[in-house]
Amino acid sequence: MAPPEHWKSIDNGKIKPLRLLTEVYEDDYTIYENKVFCRTVDQVVTLLRNYKNIFTDIIYNKISFDLSVMDKSNHLYHYLALGKLYVGYAKSDELFTEKCEKYANTFDRIIGRICANHSRPVYKKNRKSKIGLRVRKTNILAMHKDYRHIFTLKKTLDRSDYPSDIGELGANSALLKKNYENFCNMLTVFSLGHFRFKTGEDLIYENREFKGASFEFEKWRAELLPVRIRCLNMRAIALSVSSGVNKHVTLLIPFMSDPGKECAGFMGGLLSDIAREYKADNYIFFIAEKSLQIPTYYSSTTISFGILPVSINDINSFKRIQRILLDAMIKVSATHDICPFCGGTFELNEKNYYCKKCKTELGRLICMTCEKAFYYTSVNYPALKEKVVSPDDYTPDNYWKYCQDKDSQFNYRNITALTSNGLPICPHCNEAVKQ
Ligand SMILES: [Zn+2]
Ligand SMILES: [Zn+2]
Repeated sequence: MAPPEHWKSIDNGKIKPLRLLTEVYEDDYTIYENKVFCRTVDQVVTLLRNYKNIFTDIIYNKISFDLSVMDKSNHLYHYLALGKLYVGYAKSDELFTEKCEKYANTFDRIIGRICANHSRPVYKKNRKSKIGLRVRKTNILAMHKDYRHIFTLKKTLDRSDYPSDIGELGANSALLKKNYENFCNMLTVFSLGHFRFKTGEDLIYENREFKGASFEFEKWRAELLPVRIRCLNMRAIALSVSSGVNKHVTLLIPFMSDPGKECAGFMGGLLSDIAREYKADNYIFFIAEKSLQIPTYYSSTTISFGILPVSINDINSFKRIQRILLDAMIKVSATHDICPFCGGTFELNEKNYYCKKCKTELGRLICMTCEKAFYYTSVNYPALKEKVVSPDDYTPDNYWKYCQDKDSQFNYRNITALTSNGLPICPHCNEAVKQ
């Protein structure tokens, strides 16, 4: 007990101390300066995560390349595409892989150290509080020996080109956005041009502007057209695939952003604006720097859309675009006589079409859950068909490997999502279908 000279009074037998020395009110945690502190911590973590993803992407691509060469049943154009891309990627592999692993691990360690402190009261109390776009230089932020550094760091982060949220993105990275759109245009042309399609004679670029392109293969015709989405000031590409009178339009939307999980809802919001301005059968958002994420397909009752990782760091990006094309080619076919993958002959087995040449299988199912019909594809190639890709076989540390294996489970020849055992998942209701 404290000696009497430190007593202020005795109230109901309880001693009130003269001065408070160690008592901390929980309210103190929510002062403005601590909110600034927490936002700064968040911004640092976001920045580190972005960098970590870039480096992990590069490591991941090296591994995917080794795997994809194993498949012997692809068509020649596929190898030509890989060959061309490999020259570029091989150079960067030699130079960067080891360094990338080192950096990715370092970032991971720092992120872990910071996040381990997220349960502390000062962070927990301020986790979701807002501080506005500009930080006010209060007395504490200007004078206090620790908060001074926070203020400097926050200012630096705000000045840098790394947006902490989507709203800031447009202002900070107009050039980055333009470059990404150009990259997506070119990669889409490349993907179609290396999927048995012959490119038309028209100019694809004129005065550095993407003019569109046309392609033909057997009974199919494909067209790429630049589209402007005015309400969002975005450029997109319309991929229109037709055969006879049937036509299927997919709007490909390069979207320069980091779509965290909560962003699926955000994109859903954007989608209705886009759909009002441009009518398509399907809307696909291309996103950069997230090749560790499994491509996701959503379909609401009205608008069907998906999120597709398309990144310059990811050699498999072109295969994902080709998968969208394959899907459209099947949907517009009135008869299934020609294999859309290799141009070989489709033979009708008991329940599905089969191409001897490339081992592609095509079937149509009626979902037991939603009772809607859909097409699915598969590869009659034991190594692929018997492959089980289940999240249970992976640890949190190599979850990225799960994403990669899942994405390439059928070597990008499945047009629907797949269960662990490679069975099709209904695109309408996302339920696994028993066969
Ligand atoms: Zn075939
Ligand atoms: Zn269904």
